[in-house]
Formats: sequence, C-alpha cells, structure tokens
Amino acid sequence: MSGRRTKIVATLGPASSDPDVLLALIRAGADVLRLNLSHETPAGVAAIIGTLLQLEREHGVQPGVLLDTAGPEVRVTGIPEGGRELLPGDMVCFGDGEGCIGLTHPGFLEDVQEGARLMLDDGSLVLTVSRPGNPLSATVEAGGVLKNHKKIQCPGVRLRLPMLTDSDRAAIAEAASLRLDWIAASFVQDIDDIFDVKRWLEDQGLDVPVMAKIETRAALQNLDDIVRVSDGIMVARGDLGVEMPAEKLPWLQKQIIEAANRMGRPVVTATQMLESMCEHPYPTRAEVTDVANAIWDGADAVMLSAESAAGHYPVPAVTTMARIALEADGRETRPGHGPGLDRETVTRAVTHATVTAAQDLGARAIICATESGYSALAIARLRPSIAVLAVTPHPHVARRLAVVWGVDSLTMGRALEGERMIEMATATALEAGRIEPGDMVVVVGGVPTGQAGTTNMMRVVTVGEAILRGQGMGLEQAATAAVLVVEDVRAVTPRQAQGKVLVARTTNREWVPIMEVAAALVVEEGGLTCHAAVVGLSLGKPTVVGAEEATSRLANGQIVTVDGRRGLVYQGAANV
Ligand code: PEP
Repeated sequence: MSGRRTKIVATLGPASSDPDVLLALIRAGADVLRLNLSHETPAGVAAIIGTLLQLEREHGVQPGVLLDTAGPEVRVTGIPEGGRELLPGDMVCFGDGEGCIGLTHPGFLEDVQEGARLMLDDGSLVLTVSRPGNPLSATVEAGGVLKNHKKIQCPGVRLRLPMLTDSDRAAIAEAASLRLDWIAASFVQDIDDIFDVKRWLEDQGLDVPVMAKIETRAALQNLDDIVRVSDGIMVARGDLGVEMPAEKLPWLQKQIIEAANRMGRPVVTATQMLESMCEHPYPTRAEVTDVANAIWDGADAVMLSAESAAGHYPVPAVTTMARIALEADGRETRPGHGPGLDRETVTRAVTHATVTAAQDLGARAIICATESGYSALAIARLRPSIAVLAVTPHPHVARRLAVVWGVDSLTMGRALEGERMIEMATATALEAGRIEPGDMVVVVGGVPTGQAGTTNMMRVVTVGEAILRGQGMGLEQAATAAVLVVEDVRAVTPRQAQGKVLVARTTNREWVPIMEVAAALVVEEGGLTCHAAVVGLSLGKPTVVGAEEATSRLANGQIVTVDGRRGLVYQGAANV
C-alpha cells in the first residue's frame, strides 16, 4: 500500500478564505476543513461553507467540515488598537474598575485565588494574582504586548459557562443547514459537558458527531470516560499547554492518543505542528519530527491551525504536512491496536479476521459496506497495511470518515440491500476505478443493514466476472496465460502449446505431450475421471473440466486466468 493514510485537518481563516486558495488547500491534501468559532461569526461560517459548496459543484471536491466551538472561554476586551504593553513587574488590574482590562465574562474572576497564575494569549504572557476579586490585581511575570480579544486562562479554574456560546449555537445552525460533518467541543471537563452538547444537538434535530478537545486538567482526569462518550478526540495542545506544564505535553499526547485508539475513536493531534511555516516556506526539523511522531503515536489526523488560517504559506504548509505524513505512513512503527486488547465483541473478532485475511492474501483492498461508518472505523482502528475503502449510501458518512486514518470513502447512489451488500459495494468500488477485475478484495459489513454497531460479516471476493464455469480439481493452483483452442491435436506442436491455456472438447493419450507443457487445461468433457481430469490432476496443472462451449467461447490469444480449485475461468489476470 503506497499513498498517504494519515489525514490532514486544515484550519481556515483570512489566509485561506479566497476560493482559489481554498481549492489549492484541498488539492494539496486537506481532508477536513476546520472553522474556528473563536474567530468566525455565524455569517462568516455561512459564507465560507457557501464558497466550499460552490467548489464542490465546480470541481467535485468534498472535504469534511469541522466546526470548532469557542465554548466556555474568557477573552480580554477594551484593549486599544495596537495592543497594550505589559512589562515584567507591572501591576495590572482586570475586571470592572477604572483603567482595568475588561473581560468577556467577568464572573470568571470570582473563582481565581491569590497566588494563581493568569495566562494570556495561549500562555505567552503570565501574571501572578496578588489581590483576587473584581477588580483583580496581578503582577506581570512574563511580559509582552497584549492584543484585544486574546484568551485569558487560569489553570485548574473551572469556568461556570455553558459549553456552547450563543454565537456557537447560531453558527452550528447556519452550518448544519449547508454542510457540517463534525463539531469540536472546547474545554470539555467531564462527560456531562459532552452530553450537554449532544443534548442541544438532539433538541435541534441535528445528528452531528462530537469531537472532544482534551485541553483541561479535569479532562485528563476523566479521559477514558470522555473518550467513551465522544465520537472523536482532539489533542488540543495549545490550551493543554497552558493548563499543564509544557514539558508534560509529549507524554500526555501519547496517553490521549492511546485511549482514543484503544476505544476506536478517531484522534486529531493539533496546534503548532508546523508553526514556523506561518512566516517561512519551510518547517523546522523539530516540527517535521513532531508531525511524524504524532503519526507514530497513533493519530488519525494531524492539524494545521494558524499555518493555514493566518500564515503566509497556507498551501505549502498542507503540501509539507502531506509529504511528512506520506513518509511516516510508510514506516512500520505505528502502534498495533489489535483486538487482542479486548476481543470480546463480534465486531472486534470480525474486523480482526478481515484484516488478517486481507493481509495474508495480499488483497487489493478491504471494502467496508457501511451505513454509519462504524465498520470502517473498526477496521481503521487495526491500522491495516491494505487499502480501506468505505462504501456508503450516505455522503455525510463518507465526509465524517475523512478524519479517519487510512479510510478512503465512496458514496453509492442507492441503499445497501442486506443480501446484495457485498455485490453492491464491490460494484461501486469497481465503477469508481478503485479496484479492477481480477482483484481479490475482502468485503466486511453488517447484516441486517442500517444497524450501527453490527459488523458481523466478511467475505473474500475475486472481482470480475468468471467467463466460464466448470468443475475444478480441488488443487490450489491457478494460472494466467493466453488461450490456445485445439481442435486437431495433430496440428499442434508442444512448442506451440508451451505455457498456454489449452482449451479442448476432449483429450486422449495423443494429447499428453501438449498437456504436459501447457500452463492450464480447460476441457468441455466433464467428470472427475475423464482423461483431462486424471492427467491434469497427475500433472498438478490448474484444470477445469465440464466447461461447456469452452472451445467456442474462448478465443486464441485471449488472456484468461484458470482457477483450478473452484473450476472458474476469469477474463484477464485475476488475483485468485
Ligand atoms: C488548542 O488549544 O490546541 C486548540 C486546537 O484549540 P483552539 O485553537 O480553539 O485554541
């Protein structure tokens, strides 16, 4: 399997709102586009998605759309244009007093204790609280220029704010009427926060999967529970690096990814992955290594934030990320999250069997016939070396899977019918040119269809029509070669028959010299004790007997594959 398997999430912003740049971003490899509601208004979201739908109509591109909520966050207000310089040792006041720095939610100050650290602008400015309350006084430890609307955080302080702001809700409603595939929930602390978001979505009649951003201390404490109730996970290293000492991030990242892999939830590693590419056309060596290591940790997707939203090189950032991912994907250092961990469910047993069979057989692809995407997720979790194709009747399921490692999706124009599921999924992949006649594929799915969470069926299929059927000899052999139709045995020399698929009505002793040198035998006469059957078996050649009208249906020079075990003749080179 060559080709990139790790997905790329690219954040949109001023640097990428132009339709040409947006298209270039997608073509360079952005599988999912992220709109950050900390910076976008509901009207802005509608405008960007409108442009995206236009590109879809004109160019057939269809990336997933991820709306990242602002959530319970507090930002500074009232800072003049150009910012306010805070120097180390300065005493600064926050809240409602004269000359104080304003806050979007001053109530936040009630929970801040004396001696606590205030982190501004993702921790680039740090202050220590000397007098709590509102107004609150704090001394600058690490200074810099504070710009308006930057985030203010106090590690460990739980904000008593709803999970979705009014603007988040309005933007979700706008996006959902146009295109919305994922929602990222910010500052999640526990499972109740996820349920709050899910409940609101349900009340709105919206079925959108929720990705929990792990960026608070509390979320780390409740990690397994949060992963279990979420549909996806983001390692939100920006805010996590404010809540936790930066040196703890590498190990935390591994733990978060491990939990998501273990429970089969797609996981995105985010923030500052190629940060220097905001200013420069090339990344640092450390950034390249960070992206590769995130992939080897087990991330499904790696994310660009400011690099694609506000940097000078949005498209090169995606191209660079795609190149790093391609290289990293080619190495066998990914963790195996095989079903050995928890083999108890039918899904785990069947997906394990599917991946093992596909790898053992060197199959061209694993095809997941899926209504909800569940089978594809379950397969991807095992990180197979074989290509994974999800075939689904639902375009939104195909787009949701855009964030999942190694899954390439196809939408079919009709519902999956339970009893014809294998045939329909294989035909869709064939029509789309993802597989070819003769390919061996392993198809996996769930019966009855339409019930998410049922992956209980797998079948090994050789793609393509068998052009002739007869009786095989039970030998494992198969051969692909040109046909030689022989009417008169005396007119053919062993040299002419050498390496050919010998096709005859019947055979006798006179035929043995040419049968010995042929690659395979296809004979109209039937019966397991007919001359051709006995000679074919004793010579160990792929042999099909009882192949009606073989001499008229096959033509000299035609390339066929003879499957001597099942008694089938395929057009062309078939991987049997
Ligand atoms: C993060 O904190 O890493 C993150 C992805 O969230 P945001 O960009 O909203 O700060």
